[in-house]
Amino acid sequence: MKIPKDHPRYRSLVTREKLVEAYKQGVLAPEGLIAHGRGESFDYLLGEKTVPPAEKAERASAAMLLNSKRPVLSVNGNVAVLAGESIIRLAEAVPCKVEVNLFHRTEERISKIAELLEAFSDMPVLGRNATARIPDLDQPRGICDQKGIFSADTVLVALEDGDRTEALVRTGKDVIAIDLNPLCRTSQKATITIVDEVTRALPRIIYHVEELKENPKLTQETICSFDNSENLQELMEYIRNSL
Ligand code: ATP
Repeated sequence: MKIPKDHPRYRSLVTREKLVEAYKQGVLAPEGLIAHGRGESFDYLLGEKTVPPAEKAERASAAMLLNSKRPVLSVNGNVAVLAGESIIRLAEAVPCKVEVNLFHRTEERISKIAELLEAFSDMPVLGRNATARIPDLDQPRGICDQKGIFSADTVLVALEDGDRTEALVRTGKDVIAIDLNPLCRTSQKATITIVDEVTRALPRIIYHVEELKENPKLTQETICSFDNSENLQELMEYIRNSL
């Protein structure tokens, strides 16, 4: 469909078309389209911009990724289609591993998403032929890579299911979640919750990684001074005031 450039919702319509196309090509599960719709409605409440509490969480996330020994970025279909290149740039900047990990898992979709990401760099993407399991999650939701999410100390997830977030937290991992819904279980359970749109959030995290990289003391201070529940509260107040 040809979308007129002067349409007031041009960006949103183009994004929808991109996701529908990815669905037709078998990269995105149909449930991914529903998840996107839910995200769009929450983005209205934020004024479709990165609000100050989100920026604070993005900086704290950058610090946490830099401070971790084995950080992993977990990627699903929506994230790969919307922000695949930013994921790779963030993985290079930290540096850390990238794993394709799907709620509606098929080996075919894992491969397609991994190939999509690998087009942006030489970095090998994990997730194919994964055999380890996140404890307390049924097959195939719990399948993960031994060298990736299974042995990670910090996992960044975006548009993630609450059950899986909780399961990761239970294993003692720190979880950084990017999710536009501040009320969902993922946002409530994560160690750091970034309530922002994924294509806005990732470049901000990269910016903060570059800034904090050479300054371990500031990195440590940034983590110590961040309180996730306080920040979520600030975010709710921000939405209430702007409404
Ligand atoms: P939970 O299981 O955590 O309680 P849920 O059932 O809403 O939440 P899903 O529908 O599986 O979880 O996940 C989709 C989530 O991703 C929604 O909370 C939605 O707001 C969010 N989301 C959708 N699109 C984006 C986007 N582009 N950027 C950030 N978040 C998004």
